[in-house]
Amino acid sequence: MTKVGHQCFILLLCLRVGAIRMISERVKRIQESGTMKMKELAGQKKKEGKKIISFTVGEPDFDTPKHIVEAAKKALDEGKTRYLDAPGLPELREAIAQRAKAENGIPCESSNVLITPTKQAIFETILATINEGDEVLMPNPAWVTYEPCVQLAGGKAVPVTTTEENQFRFTPDDVAELITPKTKMILFNSPSNPCGAVETHEDIKGLADLAKDHNLLVLSDEVYEKILFDGMKHFSIAAEPGMMDRTITISGFSKTYAMTGWRMGWLIAPKPIFKGINKIQQHSITHAVSFAQYGGLAAITGTQEPVKMMVKEFEERRNLIMKLMKEIPSFSCDTPKGAFYVFPRYEGKMNSEEMALYLMDSAEVAMTGGSAFGSAGEKHLRISYATNKKNIQDGMERLKKTLA
Ligand code: GLU
Repeated sequence: MTKVGHQCFILLLCLRVGAIRMISERVKRIQESGTMKMKELAGQKKKEGKKIISFTVGEPDFDTPKHIVEAAKKALDEGKTRYLDAPGLPELREAIAQRAKAENGIPCESSNVLITPTKQAIFETILATINEGDEVLMPNPAWVTYEPCVQLAGGKAVPVTTTEENQFRFTPDDVAELITPKTKMILFNSPSNPCGAVETHEDIKGLADLAKDHNLLVLSDEVYEKILFDGMKHFSIAAEPGMMDRTITISGFSKTYAMTGWRMGWLIAPKPIFKGINKIQQHSITHAVSFAQYGGLAAITGTQEPVKMMVKEFEERRNLIMKLMKEIPSFSCDTPKGAFYVFPRYEGKMNSEEMALYLMDSAEVAMTGGSAFGSAGEKHLRISYATNKKNIQDGMERLKKTLA
């Protein structure tokens, strides 16, 4: 090796060692988000000129309803661009508390409500409650972000395998089997991502009993609470007797009101936990974007007709995709009752990540491999059908041809 070559080698080695040391052990423990990764990859392929149909990220294709946009614009025009208190706009906290009481039966006040992006709400809750070594029971498959939040807090995510026979429901019997003295929290999401599973009232009551019997906290992610089909009803676990004191309920604007880019949601927590979460909010994002919260206020207090329209459309799309998937012999899938995902099992040798990449390249259809959601998602694909019917029709046609 020449002298210059040798110096370059040493320099590269130093940079590499430096780079490795710059990353914390905490971050090294977590995986990249499987959903965001596939979304970005699909976007990159589109830029390269590929005609990709994307079923990757769970994002309604509707525009945010006009009255919500107008309210945020008005707030901007009126100079509502300064700091708020960390928990958020008082009127919005009040409106959310009123709605949570009236529609969900949650016995809360505005002082229990904190406005923050939904993902941030999950992260702040876990960071405020989970100690090193605490165990958090959660479904497998589950949304990609729960486990990394627990890992970042030093806790241990304990997967509770949900099965197709039980429509991927997170049943009290399955949960009970995995409770140990280290269990601190039960975390679940109904309707669920990635399976569209909806917990029954019996399930919710059973989970509440387990939490009370074993002195556990519950994190209930209800971000898809309004996206329910076939006349299904939503039940909030915080509404069960004695549960408000041990439950953190999380919901948001993104899915219900087509407000993904606004980065806004909320949590409802009992006072001591609220205080802890608020400290993290003060030291991290301070508060959710001020003028966006006026949009949020219009969403909660204004007409709910756009929500009804969107949910009706999602149900039609669910019916359409279920019908079209039946024409793909290597797919099998139960009918989901909520959210906007289908989670078919496929036959084939490839693992689900390879399968998703193969279908992106050969069918130009993008989706997320099921293993991104946990080991029980292997041999499944997650298809987000929050896109128009033409894309659903064309996408399924492409999959049918490629998989034939
Ligand atoms: N929650 C949506 C999904 O699962 C958005 C992307 C993400 O945050 O993971 O696709």
